[in-house]
Amino acid sequence: MMNVPLLDLKLQYATIKDECLKVTEEIYSSQYFILGPHVEALELEIAGYCGTDYAVGVSSGTDALLLSLMAAGIGAGDRVITSPYTFFATAGAIARVGAVPVFADIDPDTYNLSPESVNRIVEGLPTAEKQRIKAIMPVHLYGQCADMDEIADIAVSNGWLIIEDAAQAIGAEYKGKRAGSLGDFGCFSFFPSKNLGGFGDGGIVTTGSKRLFDMLVILRVHGGHPKYYHQYIGGNFRLDALQAAIVSIKLKHLDAWTAARQANAARYRQMIKDAGLSGYIRAPLEKHDRHIYNQFVIEVSEKRDVLKDYLLKNGIGCEIYYPVPLHLQACFSYLGGKAGDFPNAEHAAGHTLAIPVYPELTASQQAYVVEQIKAFRDDNH
Ligand SMILES: *Cc1c(COP(=O)(O)O)cnc(C)c1O
Repeated sequence: MMNVPLLDLKLQYATIKDECLKVTEEIYSSQYFILGPHVEALELEIAGYCGTDYAVGVSSGTDALLLSLMAAGIGAGDRVITSPYTFFATAGAIARVGAVPVFADIDPDTYNLSPESVNRIVEGLPTAEKQRIKAIMPVHLYGQCADMDEIADIAVSNGWLIIEDAAQAIGAEYKGKRAGSLGDFGCFSFFPSKNLGGFGDGGIVTTGSKRLFDMLVILRVHGGHPKYYHQYIGGNFRLDALQAAIVSIKLKHLDAWTAARQANAARYRQMIKDAGLSGYIRAPLEKHDRHIYNQFVIEVSEKRDVLKDYLLKNGIGCEIYYPVPLHLQACFSYLGGKAGDFPNAEHAAGHTLAIPVYPELTASQQAYVVEQIKAFRDDNH
């Protein structure tokens, strides 16, 4: 049996260990732990990388979303449109500022928010309700951008802000523009398992607006401006110097790691075809360049859960992102969501499976993964 973890960060660490230890020692010696020069340097680097004017380092991807909503002035009674098929934090952040998440269905091919569904949902709302919508929060799921032209058209014509949940999509591109530069705010996570991860929690918000940048910076430190004089109520959303320094080191390698993920994705695609598995599993659809493959997610036509257990038993890491669409989560029952509301999201939750695609994954490991899927399919038909 071969061991193929879903992600193996130890291999990556071995290639950057010396640099990481050096900067860690520097920070320990300086005893300058929060914000400061390492965070400012990273903010410039990320703004450059994403093609935006500004970036603000924050404590996590979740806090990037929360802080953006706060900087946008979104609060009690406001509505924000988003996808029901995403990590919980997307809608969680909306609810935490007192606003109401309004879900629309996803595109069954990309699993990203469907502009047609957004239009349908909004048209079905009474005028008073429609006027309470302040923003739309598309998610660039698995590392591929949502249909941003169509989403921007809807947002602009209705006067909504666009908050990109780009936590899985650093470096992803849509028509030549990078994730984080396609809306008013771009929210990124440096959670260790993201393509650009720190040695703990961290995140960053990008924006092209000086006004929104100023608000983000003020609200990041409790809203005091000048310090101890509060026109606003913010929070502690600060990024650690240590995380910023580590992320800066990794950023230099990100394009090479992304290229390796893309090569692995292409190889899987070929292997799935060659193994005659195309009728049983569907490889992810690349609708927009550049897909950065934070995850390589297959759609399994039947027995997804049994396949998952079989792969795990045979040493292959795999995971369901995500098993319960957000409109069916217990904590959102007050929104009145029910099974059947968003058929594409519900279908995805029941049929998708992420398999290993990390940069250091070898061709023989991939061959083993595809072999095992084939063995399972052959035994179950
Ligand atoms: C990871 C993730 C987040 C949250 O990021 P954290 O840094 O873990 O708080 C938000 N949205 C999506 C889509 C994510 O994948």
